[in-house]
Amino acid sequence: MKAKDLCKCFKNIMPNIYWITYSDESNITQKIRVMPHFLIKNERQRINNCPQCGLYVRSIELNENEYKELSK
Ligand SMILES: [Zn+2]
Repeated sequence: MKAKDLCKCFKNIMPNIYWITYSDESNITQKIRVMPHFLIKNERQRINNCPQCGLYVRSIELNENEYKELSK
């Protein structure tokens, strides 16, 4: 899933969620965010769907530019 497919309600909860990041193989300085999750009692709780509308978000990948844009 790509940034352009995200719903507005998931964008709204993004300040409250965490991600796993890894380096983009084609550009090592670029980080990719995947696996959105909540941190509850220090345990990662994966988010499979938007809590508001149910959109499937488990497979989302965001580069840092997309993340910054969505976090505005
Ligand atoms: Zn949503």
